[in-house]
Amino acid sequence: MSLSGKTAVVTGSNSGIGLGIAWEMARAGANVILNSFTDRDEDHALAREIADQTGVEARYIRADMSRGDDCRALIEQAGSCDILVNNAGIQHVAPIDQFPVEKWDAIIAINLTSAFHTTAAALPKMRAAGWGRVVNIASAHGLTASPYKSAYIAAKHGIVGMTKTVALETAEEPITANAICPGYVLTPLVEAQIPDTMKEYDMSRDDVVRNVMLARQPSKEFATVEQLGGTAVFLCSDAAAQITGTTISVDGGWTAL
Ligand code: NAD
Repeated sequence: MSLSGKTAVVTGSNSGIGLGIAWEMARAGANVILNSFTDRDEDHALAREIADQTGVEARYIRADMSRGDDCRALIEQAGSCDILVNNAGIQHVAPIDQFPVEKWDAIIAINLTSAFHTTAAALPKMRAAGWGRVVNIASAHGLTASPYKSAYIAAKHGIVGMTKTVALETAEEPITANAICPGYVLTPLVEAQIPDTMKEYDMSRDDVVRNVMLARQPSKEFATVEQLGGTAVFLCSDAAAQITGTTISVDGGWTAL
């Protein structure tokens, strides 16, 4: 599955799943653009480490995915954008009648609207190159729901719908658009939910992991960022050229229940 000569832009890729995807794209030979809104020395160091270990070109570009102008500037500054991975995401957990509206707006902006802006900016580049792949990181929560995550679930269902629309608008072109729906992956985003859940249910960390998180996954295992990266690489491969407008669940069987 060589992606040699392609450039992959991965939003929100200085940690977790985005970083895992960037590594697997680089291992498959793609040049990669890392992104976050932080612009720390460590962010640039991550890009250097990927370049040193894999031999591809890797760069870090700061852009705040809550801002439309930053989203479009990221794609502009990337130069080529053959592969666009819309991964940046945040989470907030609260009952809908106590959900802070600023949190709702930020989640919709970063998890959903950013993908509208980046996709709109990237499609002309893909068309000019005669090849393109859009990979949107949705969630098992893009296909199912659970309480207290109204904004996240609305955003993830939204991105699944947007993926299908982009696929139909590009169906006759050598461009595909698909969404990956991970179950639980032990990243900083999930780690941040554990203390609140421990407090809410008066549970130990182990109980939260086993009885709240992994209870939803028949495999009883977390997916890994490498597995997510491998799935993204597959969607960019020639083998997946006729796969468009669909979702691939990487959730240990969660959505089969
Ligand atoms: P994470 O917190 O490790 O990564 C989130 C990334 O988004 C980070 O790189 C962060 O810098 C970036 N980000 C946040 N706000 C940003 C902004 N305003 N501008 C630019 N970048 C920003 O979490 P993760 O679990 O790796 O999440 C990555 C994606 O995977 C998210 O879309 C998340 O919803 C999705 N997801 C995660 C899980 C899971 O279990 N971890 C499950 C399903 C879906």
